[in-house]
Amino acid sequence: MSDLAPGTSPAAAGSMDAFVAGLPKAELHVHHVGSASPRIVAELAARHPDSAVPDDPAALAEYFTFRDFAHFIDVYLSVVDLIRDAEDVRLLTFEVARDMARQNIRYAELTVTPYSSTHRGIPGEAFMEAIEDARKAAEAELGVTLRWCFDIPGEAGLQSAEETTRLALGLQPEGLVSFGLGGPEIGVPRPQFKPYFDQARAAGLHSVPHAGETTGPETIWDALRELGAERIGHGTSAAQDRRLLEHLAERRIPLEVCPTSNIATRAVRVLDEHPIRDMVAAGVLVTVNSDDPPMFGTDLNTEYAVAARLLGLDRAGVAALAKNAVEASFMDPAGRARLAAEIDAYTASWS
Ligand SMILES: [Zn+2]
Repeated sequence: MSDLAPGTSPAAAGSMDAFVAGLPKAELHVHHVGSASPRIVAELAARHPDSAVPDDPAALAEYFTFRDFAHFIDVYLSVVDLIRDAEDVRLLTFEVARDMARQNIRYAELTVTPYSSTHRGIPGEAFMEAIEDARKAAEAELGVTLRWCFDIPGEAGLQSAEETTRLALGLQPEGLVSFGLGGPEIGVPRPQFKPYFDQARAAGLHSVPHAGETTGPETIWDALRELGAERIGHGTSAAQDRRLLEHLAERRIPLEVCPTSNIATRAVRVLDEHPIRDMVAAGVLVTVNSDDPPMFGTDLNTEYAVAARLLGLDRAGVAALAKNAVEASFMDPAGRARLAAEIDAYTASWS
């Protein structure tokens, strides 16, 4: 991190970076295609030489340097265009897990948008087989446990909600734990998705819609009341509503906070104005996440370092943040206890 808080010595920051790098972590808000790093995109581009995306890593680094949000969308869509068959899906998923393993991410709930692939002609069954093969290989070869959140791309309308529900419930892959809603919030009211969330919840899936990233706290109330949200994706505007913060704190409804993403999308102007401090001060269970990490020039370790600086955390504080993600996850109780114990043992080894 180059933007050190006043009084933070480079040596102290370096030691925090090293602590975070080795810390066993869980990530709860990270998108499948949005996790395609330049290395992965180069591999996909090499499989599809007719694509406009360069397959040379140096040219790709340039390609991934975002000028503005519109450019981010262009790059995102050109990566979507590289996911053309089940083998692309398998490669992307396994290689995302490899990038996670390098950061000591031990467990991740990856937000997958199957509609984007089935809509482009990959059969649902082949898609499920590809992500499940990659999930099993990641667990066996990399020690990374993946679970799926299938999300509705809100901008694609109710037809995409229908299709996502059909895929989730009809094919219910073993790793599927939750049901989400992403895409733009402005002009895409949450309540219209209630029937789909009702079906998904009745089938045992957890409800984790994005809400309050680019709109006000009313969207978060809608997600809670209409969609039965058990965790909120982003929830940035919750800080504008004292009663909402109290409600989230009382019910232990976690927020999936993604600081750098909020700056990249201009949901928040600058990091120092990020409402994460108000959320924590109100007693809300806050988790830190990376959203679309390579596209926002970040990774989970960087997000932990950002949070440590904004919240003034020491190593014990950062370890507590990592344990929040474990508590807020949909892991089984034994898995939660195991990862929490690993975090404690690692933290103790530093003192
Ligand atoms: Zn997101």
